[in-house]
Amino acid sequence: MCGIVGYIGNKKAKSILIDGLTKLEYRGYDSAGLTIMENENFKTLKNKGRVKELSELVNQESLTGTIGIAHTRWATHGKPSSENSHPHNDNSNTFSVVHNGIVENHIELKNFLKDHDYHFLSETDTEVIPNLIHYYFAQEENETKEAFLKAVHQTCHHLKGSFAIGVLSTHFPDIMIVVRKDSPLVIGKGDGENFISSDIPAYLAFTRNFYLLKDNEFAILSKENIAFYDDNLHPLTKESKKIEWNATSAEKNGYEDFMLKEIYEQPTAIRETIGSHLMAGQSCRFDELPFTKDFLNSIQKIYIVACGTAMHAGLTAKTMLENICEIPTEVDIASEFRYRKPLINKNTLCIFISQSGETADTLAALKLAKSKGATTLAISNVEGSSITREADFVTYTHAGPEIAVASTKAYTSQITLLAIMVLYFAEILEKNTSTLQDIKNSILELPTKAEQLLSNLTEIKNFAKEVYQNKDVFFLGRGLDYNTAAESSLKLKEISYIHSEAFFSGELKHGPIALIENDTLVVSILTVPDLIEKSISNIQEVITRGAKTLIITDKNVENTNFTKIIKIPETNHFLSPILSIIPLQLFAYYITKQKGLDVDKPRNLAKSVTVE
Ligand code: GLU
Repeated sequence: MCGIVGYIGNKKAKSILIDGLTKLEYRGYDSAGLTIMENENFKTLKNKGRVKELSELVNQESLTGTIGIAHTRWATHGKPSSENSHPHNDNSNTFSVVHNGIVENHIELKNFLKDHDYHFLSETDTEVIPNLIHYYFAQEENETKEAFLKAVHQTCHHLKGSFAIGVLSTHFPDIMIVVRKDSPLVIGKGDGENFISSDIPAYLAFTRNFYLLKDNEFAILSKENIAFYDDNLHPLTKESKKIEWNATSAEKNGYEDFMLKEIYEQPTAIRETIGSHLMAGQSCRFDELPFTKDFLNSIQKIYIVACGTAMHAGLTAKTMLENICEIPTEVDIASEFRYRKPLINKNTLCIFISQSGETADTLAALKLAKSKGATTLAISNVEGSSITREADFVTYTHAGPEIAVASTKAYTSQITLLAIMVLYFAEILEKNTSTLQDIKNSILELPTKAEQLLSNLTEIKNFAKEVYQNKDVFFLGRGLDYNTAAESSLKLKEISYIHSEAFFSGELKHGPIALIENDTLVVSILTVPDLIEKSISNIQEVITRGAKTLIITDKNVENTNFTKIIKIPETNHFLSPILSIIPLQLFAYYITKQKGLDVDKPRNLAKSVTVE
């Protein structure tokens, strides 16, 4: 979580830093701050609240410095407050640090520093970092840039946990040092200016050339130069990457919120993700996954490991892998998988899904699976992100930057990619071709069907207006429809703060039905052909107990007892989760708007969960 940016060049740093922070605010928004080098001294300004408030504070000062670092926080240690906001400076105000991650051994380090007469102004884990740098720098014989780098390096070796840090020092007012381990950081190369940022879109408007730092790599930035070092401080040569993303794809483009824009971008995101993997009348193509029939036959089990929405995408892939490829598949929540001693061996394929590719638990689970000899495959939306660097094989969704905290287009793109990948496996394994052909045709029609669906959803907006004051909403589904229920429930609770739960329809009678009372809203998804009749019986049971019902279906279910039916286009049932979620994303969106809440930045959450 949290967003870090930095600038070193000839322009005034303040507006460039505020601009970058604004673009990164989806990563954390408890508080924000910056340090600008003003005539070889730090000017550090920070406060609780959003970047906009920081910007007001900054505008009251005439800051002319052209070098600075800034941070928008998602607090892990210490409540959101001005004192706890970053940057944190050492006691002598000679080192200023922004940090993304957690220093797990901060208590031990704090005690060590206190024993050496350092004192602390904040409750954060981060504040040990500038003070340790000061401590190690003081041990160096000469005050050189090399000594500064060595002090940062020694500090990092004493940190347990995760970090991406940017450091300024008043001793060297024309450079900035950065390093990362298990938290993201990229460096943008400009002409006579350089940038640092937690992710690429923040500075896409300034440069297309980015360096992706690996774990434990260091860089010294000046206006004109970027020098890289490995973990032994040996110089490194790195190639920059040209990023093709359109700079405006990270803007709102006239939409009221990023979430709404991203919901409406789904036809394009799905189309881009299908890309060259699937073309009419041809076999599926995944050049990046050169698997043989012998290899896939040797796989005894597949684990799909992810968190939150990405985990729900994995549920649909499980059904497809088991039904079409006949490979036993389990879906695991990454934070559970990594601590539950999963049975992994060389005949296991582990698939890790993460939009950002930086999800801390997913990354740790990947490292575990790899150490146990599994073949690992990463699916991410962000090129060069951490999980893509760790995994044996990588394939990408092409949803474009997703900024709203609540994931929408990344989810439907993930299922699309997974579905094509399952068909690719099935073709290698020589499974029944007529079924495969039908699913392939249906995938190719998905972008148009998603477009049709999105052009005709005013009903859902009106229904949201009717029910936005409900305290509880329950979502029901069987089979693949349960996946949509689970994802819609997550969407609704995360942005509208309405209590919601998803249940398997068949489980209702085993407990949850006790929650139903007059006017409780129950949303049901009905698309899986063999299960519709059974699900309708379950809905009837809640109606009998006074529930209002919203039905999302691609079938002609005429039932006057239902409060509202939203009809979606029909597709092959394996793919229906890609379409059935769309009206429910909008349902969560409109309820949240109706409640007057910030849709893109829900409380307590942040995108890209880079801490455990
Ligand atoms: N652990 C640090 C803090 O709580 C950094 C959190 C972040 O990544 O935003 O201040």
